[in-house]
Amino acid sequence: MARQKILKLSPQERIKNFNEVSLGFSKEQTILEAKRCLQCREPKCVEGCPVEIDIPKFIRLISESKFDEAISKIKEKNNLPAICGRVCPQEEQCEKFCILGKKDEPIAIGALERFAADWEIETKREKTLHCKLSTINSGRPKVAVVGSGPAGLTCSADLAKMGYKVVLFESLHKPGGVLTYGIPEFRLPKSIVSYEIENIRKLGVEIILNTLIGKTYTLSDLFEQDFKAIFIGAGAGLPQFLGIPGENLNRVYSANEFLTRINLMKTYLFPEYSTPINIGERIAVIGGGNVAFDCARCAIRLGKKVTLVYRRTEEEMPARDAEINNAKEEGLDFKLLTQPVRVIGDDSGYVKGLECIRMELGPPDESGRRRPIPIEVSNFVLDVDTLIVAIGQSPNPLIPKSEPDLKINKDGTIKVDKDYRTSIKGVFAGGDIITGADTVISAMGAGKRAARAIDNYIKNL
Ligand code: FAD
Ligand code: SF4
Repeated sequence: MARQKILKLSPQERIKNFNEVSLGFSKEQTILEAKRCLQCREPKCVEGCPVEIDIPKFIRLISESKFDEAISKIKEKNNLPAICGRVCPQEEQCEKFCILGKKDEPIAIGALERFAADWEIETKREKTLHCKLSTINSGRPKVAVVGSGPAGLTCSADLAKMGYKVVLFESLHKPGGVLTYGIPEFRLPKSIVSYEIENIRKLGVEIILNTLIGKTYTLSDLFEQDFKAIFIGAGAGLPQFLGIPGENLNRVYSANEFLTRINLMKTYLFPEYSTPINIGERIAVIGGGNVAFDCARCAIRLGKKVTLVYRRTEEEMPARDAEINNAKEEGLDFKLLTQPVRVIGDDSGYVKGLECIRMELGPPDESGRRRPIPIEVSNFVLDVDTLIVAIGQSPNPLIPKSEPDLKINKDGTIKVDKDYRTSIKGVFAGGDIITGADTVISAMGAGKRAARAIDNYIKNL
């Protein structure tokens, strides 16, 4: 039996609004897909799941139409299943290891996880918190978690399930980290993120917003407030720029600022929200990762003509294939093997063009991808009036800067040992702040393992 095809909105329909593009599987498709699973005795798929979901078991429950039991099984390990089912790069993780993928297509594990999670939301059967409720707030030690992205949320939820009193501090006015301010509505609806965060609150996790650790409170302040351990999941939200002339002109945006205006400041709800977003009509987005594609597809939905400028070819792009294909269907123009060298401004200081140079590919560099090399005298000008730079993010520097005893690596990531312990006693860290920009599920995996390490640390105090 062939793998089921995921239903999607048509390109003509989706470019008019920010509605979710992927509609997932119908109930019938879900059961058929689950029945393809071989129920391997030694399943390889589980090895590819950083949060260790019992994949064959939940798939078997789905194949028996036991959706409530399936979501309970998933939630034993994953506190954010509706999010992971949507944005995890499963083709590089669990599905990559699925034995069926050797000869045929692997089981659509992500789509099955999404169906089970959405089933719970749609049927309002939320009863799967898996928490020792009797132990909540029962005088067990307090743990502070910094940052409410996937790392912080997962660490908080797991510690709360173990019975700790967890207080989660977030600098922004909404929790969720990149899930809230970065990934757009058409890939990850805000209602899904809010629902999963509410479930974590219901575990007893207290979320304190608008609080910048390193400024409002230092780590020492937190220890003085009787927190026995601290987990830092502050992410990688510091934008990188190209370092070319003209980058300070009006209408040059970092991906971070552009997406924050779209998501957190609700441009996506136009015309109800009139968020100031000063963009022109012809937009160049620089980069080839998920972030670049998210920016480009947001700009398309705002009715703009959008060109993606990338210095290698499509083959080397780090973005997921599904997102590249979605963007093509939505009319994104590609300028590949192209590197910006100068942003050209008009007399009022606004972008009026982007000078680029053509590239060719040389031998592989340290990343394993073929190195782009400029072709001499091949410069040309792209006729654009807005630039969005999406070439990567660095770790948020505030906490490392405000804590001289916290050791960091050359790239600004916080140094940790195998148990996520930092150089300060009782302070742990995980997610993008220790790896640099990575994935939702790897941040969650770090949050999960750090929670175990914190439990172990506190028990031995
Ligand atoms: P974050 O999600 O960055 O959360 C960190 C939180 O800490 C933020 O809320 C921040 O405000 C808060 N914070 C920072 N400093 C402080 C402080 N001093 N005090 C208090 N709070 C603080 N990954 C995927 O797997 N699939 C995708 O499709 C995908 N798409 C992406 C699209 C975009 C646009 C971006 C930017 C990233 C994407 N990623 C994707 C990557 C993924 O979102 C990140 O790897 C993941 O969110 C990292 O989680 P985190 O918890 O470490 O940090
Ligand atoms: Fe099923 Fe694939 Fe996992 Fe085997 S590897 S149990 S076929 S999902």
